[in-house]
Amino acid sequence: MIAENLAEVQNNIEEACRSAGRDSSEVTLVAVSKTKPPADLMEAYEAGVRDFGENFVQEIVDKYDRLPKDIKWHMIGHLQRNKVKYIIDKVSMIHSVVSLRLAETIEQEAAKKNLVMPVLLEVNVAEEDTKFGLKVEEVLPLVREISAFPHVKVEGLMTIAPFVDDPEQNRDIFRKLRKLSVDISRENINNITMNVLSMGMTGDYQVAVQEGASMVRVGTGIFGERKYKDRLES
Ligand SMILES: *Cc1c(COP(=O)(O)O)cnc(C)c1O
Repeated sequence: MIAENLAEVQNNIEEACRSAGRDSSEVTLVAVSKTKPPADLMEAYEAGVRDFGENFVQEIVDKYDRLPKDIKWHMIGHLQRNKVKYIIDKVSMIHSVVSLRLAETIEQEAAKKNLVMPVLLEVNVAEEDTKFGLKVEEVLPLVREISAFPHVKVEGLMTIAPFVDDPEQNRDIFRKLRKLSVDISRENINNITMNVLSMGMTGDYQVAVQEGASMVRVGTGIFGERKYKDRLES
């Protein structure tokens, strides 16, 4: 089932690319595997997936040990500063940087391991009260501050669009994030690139791809519904 779902998602991405005149090699599918058992991830892995998205620190730590080492783990969930140290040498990208303080902690922990951590700044484009993330106008000032950090590299932006019935309702959100990334790249800030736009989930990834997403984060569409019942916040 997972392999079939995956093929369907990949087809949809290709179709969205065609309709927007994009090459599908520009879009990385991140399979969001939070709450799912390692066996499910292995099914996706065997079907070719190497990029997995996780929200909880403890789950990344556990799965990192149990699954193949060529997997790229993406931290996409809210990250507490005191937990950065547990994942700093396990993830290939942190999508959810929302403050200078968090960036400072990532800088300190990355320095200890002598690595440079690629990060995205999470933007709450719709300014929903229920979501973490920077306001649009806060992003450029933060990018400038982080540009001085030797062990953190801002590579782009991420957003979680609102839950909507019709994905067209989020098109404007994706356009705004894209515009923000273009505006920032025009500033030519040292040590900063804006090559990554992480946007689009199961409900709206085709629209996000049409609007320029370079990473889509799809969970339910690949692994099926999640059960949160028994899990604790990490
Ligand atoms: C859970 C999650 C996803 C995947 O959501 P689906 O609707 O299941 O595709 C993507 N991004 C983030 C940040 C998430 O927390």
